Amino acid sequence: MPLTLSGMCRSIASSVTLAIDSKAKAMKASGVDVIGFGAGEPDFDTPKAIRDAAHTAIEAGKTRYTPSSGIAELRATAAAKLLRDNGLTYTPEQIIVTTGAKHALLGALLALINPGDEVIIPTPCWVSYPEMVRMAGGKPVFAAMVQSRETNGFVLSIENVRNAVTPKTKAILINSPHNPTGMVLTRDELEELAKLAVRNEFYVISDEIYEKLVYDGAKHISIASLGDDIYRQTIVINGVSKSYAMTGWRIGYAAAPLPIIKLMGSYQSHATSNPTSIAQWASVTAINDCEESIETMRQAFEARRVNMLREIESIQGLSCAVPQGAFYIMLNMQRLYGKTYDGNPIMDAMTFSALLLEYAHVAVVPGEAFEAPGTCRLSYACSQEDITRGMERIRKFVSELK
Ligand code: PMP
Ligand code: GLU
Repeated sequence: MPLTLSGMCRSIASSVTLAIDSKAKAMKASGVDVIGFGAGEPDFDTPKAIRDAAHTAIEAGKTRYTPSSGIAELRATAAAKLLRDNGLTYTPEQIIVTTGAKHALLGALLALINPGDEVIIPTPCWVSYPEMVRMAGGKPVFAAMVQSRETNGFVLSIENVRNAVTPKTKAILINSPHNPTGMVLTRDELEELAKLAVRNEFYVISDEIYEKLVYDGAKHISIASLGDDIYRQTIVINGVSKSYAMTGWRIGYAAAPLPIIKLMGSYQSHATSNPTSIAQWASVTAINDCEESIETMRQAFEARRVNMLREIESIQGLSCAVPQGAFYIMLNMQRLYGKTYDGNPIMDAMTFSALLLEYAHVAVVPGEAFEAPGTCRLSYACSQEDITRGMERIRKFVSELK
């Protein structure tokens, strides 16, 4: 047998968002004053009550293996949260705690997909979705979102989703509030989507990780709450990373009909055992006791979003859709194509973002990572000062293009 490596793993591109974040952090460590609009990571410290709960857990000896699908207390806490915030009834057994929402998504896909099954992904989409579908042996099928004339935000095109449905469609992967566009799905859109999924018998994986981060009065609705039929076909994914400023703690969870959660549990028991015991106990406190802290952070993101939008609108050659949630803005920079910086041509978002990092020391993620060429994603999960300084650098960079 020749010493070859896995074709599946070799076909997977590593995460561009994480790579850009690492590069920006490494440049910073080497003394370069880089402004990071790259990774979607809140700059806030994890709230004190959560940090205290982790210390208490360590001192109380909660440092051993836990049940592989998570401690009963966190599963019950997540069940209570889903009822309170989303009107969803799940027993704790219908919930699995995972190593970040990322691993809940992979577990859900592994539980559903047989080789060749298709998973519809509205685009732009988060960088990891297509790769995760491939890792699970499925085939991503893209359905382009459209930009609304009315609100200038991105909206889901039900028509494009309908056109993507085939007899092989196993699931659709939706994300609202949405990374990278900031779109928030409305009740009408969710109802249409639910009808389509029920009629055509495919699952909905609903990634609700940015649930708490909505602006301008937008409301988050979970598709699973729209009726018994769609509840039975939905896997809700959520976690503490974004809303509670807990990206490094790696706690997510999934809620779904029992047979699906059981399969995810079997897989997880071999793949990772349990998520970190200490982080699980800290997450109980986060979900139960930290509404005030997360509302303070949400308000800060809302103000940063206004600042970044205002700056973008005032730079000639740039435009953007208006986001209603999460903490990202999709910058459209196609009008700069064909211009040069220091003799280097801008041909696409990749070249734009590479030049921006090299010459202006601002990290952004090129839209190619999100199946959205012609755009770059800017995260405003950073300080107002960074937003002002970073946008000033972008303004100068654009004004120096020839
Ligand atoms: N879903 C989306 C849309 C995301 O942007 C992220 C970013 N990390 C995740 C899921 C995963 O979150 P985590 O694994 O940190 O819980
Ligand atoms: N989800 C964040 C982002 O899109 C964090 C990095 C990642 O996990 O991809 O930037």
